[in-house]
Amino acid sequence: MKFEDIKNICVVGAGNMGHQIALQAAICGYKVTCSDVNAETLAKADAFVDSYLPGRVEKGRLTKEQAQQARANLVFSASLQEAAANADFVIEAATEVLALKRRIFADLDKFTPKHAILATNSSAIISSKIADATQRMDKVVNMHFFNPALVMKLVEVVKGPHVSDETAELTMKLCEVLQKVPVLLKKEVDGFLLNRIFAAISKEATWLLEMGVADVEDIDKACVFGAGHPMGPFRLNDLTGLDLSYIMRMEKFRETGDFADLPNPRLVEHYMNGEYGEKTGKGWYDYTKK
Ligand code: NAD
Repeated sequence: MKFEDIKNICVVGAGNMGHQIALQAAICGYKVTCSDVNAETLAKADAFVDSYLPGRVEKGRLTKEQAQQARANLVFSASLQEAAANADFVIEAATEVLALKRRIFADLDKFTPKHAILATNSSAIISSKIADATQRMDKVVNMHFFNPALVMKLVEVVKGPHVSDETAELTMKLCEVLQKVPVLLKKEVDGFLLNRIFAAISKEATWLLEMGVADVEDIDKACVFGAGHPMGPFRLNDLTGLDLSYIMRMEKFRETGDFADLPNPRLVEHYMNGEYGEKTGKGWYDYTKK
């Protein structure tokens, strides 16, 4: 496939990530169909697009015509078959469950034209665990956006052993046209690039806390004022959710059986108390006091 042949994009999942990836692609001129199994999620995503675009026009980021075109480029659908029928490129952003993703990819293999590339936005599942659910393993690739997808520039493209050079090149090029900054991982590795770096920082930060070397605020301050990070690891964890961190670490432990992969006792304590971070009012910080 030539890059110019990519005209229609299908996004699977209209949740946190999916609806924003779909909207970014529509703003960048692609015809996009975004599908979800949840009618409420679809309605919410549709309403978000209607409220987001006028704001961009007000801020001078889009002209009125560009916003209208973006709106016209994007449709939501409850039917995966319908959404995938004309797709040249699919970005799957459905719930992070391997069996579900394999089922979706098997369906996509049936529903999409043979030339279509099938990318997954999974944060942790390497595409070689999914690719063999299809008859086009060379066209199944990781394309990892960051949250919020309309804002964050980085996309990690992972070239697993089954991924063709053409697929990797077209995916990298698409990221650029979507106004993102792609990085290419030449090997599949657990956690990809940035989350591995974050995990190392977070592990060290939690160890320093455990050892009583410094408190949460000062460890965060060190990262912000010494390393120039926009926020420290504990504050960031409060934003992304301690529940997600706990679940991901338990999932990792189940996979490896290595006790070093178990969540830190402080994290477990917060999780058991229902303190998931900003969304519950309390996590590493207490937001009820402000
Ligand atoms: P989410 O729960 O907000 O959205 C997932 C959506 O998938 C839900 O709306 C659900 O109804 C839908 N879905 C489930 N089964 C489906 C099916 N068969 N067909 C169509 N839609 C289906 O989750 P999210 O945070 O948007 O994450 C989606 C993917 O993106 C995951 O793989 C996750 O690892 C990855 N990701 C998430 C983040 C993040 O910060 N949230 C960042 C990068 C990547």
